[in-house]
Order: sequence, then structure tokens, then C-alpha cells
Amino acid sequence: MSRSGLLAPGAELQQVAGGTTWAEGPVWLPDRRAVRYSDIPADRILEYSEETGEQTVYAEQVEFTNGRTLDLDGSVIQCSHGRRAVERDRDGEVTTLVDSWRGARLNSPNDVVVRSDGTIWFTDPSYGIERPREGHAGVLEYGDRYVFRYVPDTGQLDPVVIDLEQPNGLAFSPDESILYVADSSVDPAGEANPARPGGHAIHAYDVFEGRHAKNGRTLVEVNPGLPDGFRVDVDGNLWSSSLDAVQVFSPGGELLLRVDVPEKIANVCFGGEDGRTLYIAASTSLYRIETATTDAVWARQERRSATL
Ligand code: MG
Repeated sequence: MSRSGLLAPGAELQQVAGGTTWAEGPVWLPDRRAVRYSDIPADRILEYSEETGEQTVYAEQVEFTNGRTLDLDGSVIQCSHGRRAVERDRDGEVTTLVDSWRGARLNSPNDVVVRSDGTIWFTDPSYGIERPREGHAGVLEYGDRYVFRYVPDTGQLDPVVIDLEQPNGLAFSPDESILYVADSSVDPAGEANPARPGGHAIHAYDVFEGRHAKNGRTLVEVNPGLPDGFRVDVDGNLWSSSLDAVQVFSPGGELLLRVDVPEKIANVCFGGEDGRTLYIAASTSLYRIETATTDAVWARQERRSATL
């Protein structure tokens, strides 16, 4: 596919805000016409308003929030390293949804998605209890790093993926039959350990009965750097972070496009009035570029509201 098939004609990368230490966890808030995102080491949440072009501090001392998404009711679901929890922010009031499994505290929830049935799926790597800048020191209380599925109505929490070393970003395919999960366990700064080299790939799992993820396989290794967060568009393409570019992969794992970005990228989200603006959280800055597509989640929600 040509570049023009995925991006708007003449699209150029634009830096819209700066001043962050490590920008992560962007989500578009349609009601506020803003992107909300985390500045993890600075322990604050920022918002960039498309209306005013200004960036404001939404909240401080937030216990190191990371990834976030919108729930079906429009409230924000976010991950907190410091509270080792997945929590809900409704109009500024923050409540914990889940912070333990079988009596053991979670590690440090990193990224989260909501399925169309209202279940909340999140990754639980250990970065937030291992890196002093990103949370509080702690131990792996359940002894591993899983992807979980949480049922808000019943409080049930079940591991769905247990075979990745550091599960990070995640998203569903447009029809929710496939769950994609990034493993970011490679340490680009450290010495390669031949016995445990770590991963930097996006993995795919078949979803059965809306609650089991099976048949895990590597979809694509992402280079340079690693895939942290990513989004899936309406055609099933994956828009992934990496060290130096947003990389777009087909559902088969073929590289379709690279959008060079001058800083290390953590995560992306679709936003803007028509949902076609890709916002890019990259280290000290928030960037954007106009695309020719939108998030599969948006399309699902529009389909659902059209049938209500
Ligand atoms: Mg992440």
C-alpha cells in the first residue's frame, strides 16, 4: 500500500506540545476535544486541547499513571503503577477497579483496552515496581507478568495471556477475534543476555468465546527499539511505536509504512474531530499527523450506536 493510502494527502508530522519527561498513555476525549496523556516520571497527567492548541496539567501526584482508554460510557480507564491498579476517572473522581489477583497485588498495570462486551483487558508487566522513576519498588507478588481480563459487573479477574515476559501494549482486531499484545522485554540499553535475550515483537492470539486467548504466535518483530503501545485501525492494520518511527503493519505482519519521528515513541492514539488524526506520545513531545483511517474501536462504537 502506498503512503498516501494510509496518510492524508500532504500529511506532515507536527509537534504540538512538549515539556514531558516520558510521554505515554494517550487517549482522545471527544467531549473535551483533547488528548489526555501521562508524563510518567513527572507523575502527572496532561491534556492537549485541539480547540485552544494549549497544553494544561490535568492532574499531579497521580501515582504514576500509564496507559488509558475510554470505557463504553465515556469515562477514562487508566493504569496506575503506583497504586498497582486499573482505575476509573469519571470527571476527575478516581476509583480503583482492580488491584489484586487471588490475594496478590498486581505488578504495575501498563496498558488497557475495553472490549465491546464491556470487559477490561490489561497488561501487567513489572516496570512500575522495578524502575524508580516510574513507580514504587516492589516484588512480583503472584510471581509472573500476565495479561488479564476483568469483568466489571462481577469483579472476576482471569489471566488470559501468560507466555510473554513483559506484556505491554495491547489491542483487538476490528472484529475482536484476535488479541494483539506487545512484548517489550528486550533491554535496548543493557547488555544482551544470550540466555534471556528478551523480546521486541507484537504477538497475536485467537480469542474464543470472548474470554480465552489461545494459539499465541509472533506477528512481527519491531525494529529498531521495541513496540510499546499501538492501535489497530478499521482495516486491521497496526500502528505501532518503535525507537524512531510509527510503523504500520498489515494484519499479516507486513510493514506498510514508516512515519519517522525524531524522538523515541511510547504510544499512539487516533483522535481529532473525525478520528483520523494520529497523536504520538514520544518522550518529551506530543506529535500528530493526519491519516486516512481511524481506530477500529471508534468504528465498532459507531456501529453499535447506529443499531441501538
Ligand atoms: Mg506501555
